[in-house]
Amino acid sequence: MTRPGEDEPAVLRSLPQLQRLLEHPQARVLVADTCHDAVAGALRTVLEHARAALRAGRPADTGADALLAQAAALLARAGLPGLRRAINATGIVLHTNLGRAPIAEAALAAVAEAARGYCTLEYDDATGRRGARAPSVEARLCRLTGAEAALVVNNGAAAVLLALSAHAGGPDPAAAGEVVVSRGELVEIGGGFRVPDVIRQGGARLVEVGTTNRTTPEDYRAAIGPRTRMLLHVHPSNFRVVGFTATPALPELAALARAHGVLLMADIGSGSLGGSPVPGQEEPAVRDVVAAGVDLVSFSGDKLLGGPQAGILVGTAAAIAQLRRHPLLRALRADKLTLAALEATLRLHEEAPHTLPVARMLAQDEAVLQDRAERLSALLPDEVLWRIEPVTAFAGGGALPGSELPSRAICLAVEGLDADALALRLRQHRPAVIGRIAAGLVALDMMAVAEEELALVAQAVSAAVDGK
Ligand SMILES: *Cc1c(COP(=O)(O)O)cnc(C)c1O
Repeated sequence: MTRPGEDEPAVLRSLPQLQRLLEHPQARVLVADTCHDAVAGALRTVLEHARAALRAGRPADTGADALLAQAAALLARAGLPGLRRAINATGIVLHTNLGRAPIAEAALAAVAEAARGYCTLEYDDATGRRGARAPSVEARLCRLTGAEAALVVNNGAAAVLLALSAHAGGPDPAAAGEVVVSRGELVEIGGGFRVPDVIRQGGARLVEVGTTNRTTPEDYRAAIGPRTRMLLHVHPSNFRVVGFTATPALPELAALARAHGVLLMADIGSGSLGGSPVPGQEEPAVRDVVAAGVDLVSFSGDKLLGGPQAGILVGTAAAIAQLRRHPLLRALRADKLTLAALEATLRLHEEAPHTLPVARMLAQDEAVLQDRAERLSALLPDEVLWRIEPVTAFAGGGALPGSELPSRAICLAVEGLDADALALRLRQHRPAVIGRIAAGLVALDMMAVAEEELALVAQAVSAAVDGK
């Protein structure tokens, strides 16, 4: 037991390292029962609790035996932590770690129907034979984007990998085609998705042109040689270069690609199928990119589109046909649940785009968010100190990177419980309530919290206070 009031670094140093705990015989017993990662996760939680307590000047066990016993109890109580519902009070609407876009009720119903029984996934009812895979999804995508053809794979990264493999790569490194990319677009999107790595993985060779801030059509022209297969434009997502910048317009690149008989691809990341839900903030409209003469466009299903995780490719019939012939497609294709959800989401884009949850959230005005924060404040237990503050929320997922959405957060403090400990208890509640810490308070941003979730948030706060 460590006494409160000792100087903080020394107190924290008395906690054993995670690795040492994992080597303890008792930890090995727990691993045999579950798995390494579950035990490591439980120990991390236990250490985090102890650290938060010590920082707040409260006593905590620091001995290996006691910590392992706590971890064992945690594993026994929780079973495996599992995927559980979370309430997103981070202010980031398309939060990749929280599953990005909540899908529409209609999409949910379509998933349930497809999952419960059988569906005509790859079945032609006219012939009674094998048919194309969900041709209706592709038809809707063509209608919404003006493209000749479309194809759906697992996610945006898969779409780019497939396109590079089919159009520029090959199993023989000596025969690798060249892909020309501006230095201003050689970005890491996040989660290890780095453009140069994906090009290499696709079996192609990267040719960099221009500089970080300026690339001209002449730069592209000078780089095109006999082995060039593709000009690749990548939306830089969260990365922005401002000031003295230049990149060729897509129609200009399209003309260049056509003149040299190479393919032009644009990975636009999020893209949008209609108008932007945030006034003054635009993502490239897929329809405009297609109309600019780009041969192949890729974007994600669970960003601004507001659907399930998916990678969508639209483009010319020839460019898409080549993707269909590639052996990698079988490994990357989307499953029936995704296709069902995507089809329903696309139908909403055609019929009532403003009703999609993501569009609705991004379009909320400050008065609505202020009102929501006030209603939550009325549900909080008396012991909680709170104030409502104007904050900035974000679209997230690399979409609308410049957007700063005015929002409201309710900032919480509880006597005798520091912000780290309170935030931890909220995160570990069922459902998890995920906020952030600002100026020593736990800030819960209302942008991505639904009205129906307010009571659940209040319950989580009450439970955190009671467990103090
Ligand atoms: C998000 C993004 C990707 C990756 O898409 P996922 O659906 O997350 O796999 C690729 N390229 C760009 C430009 C992106 O913004």
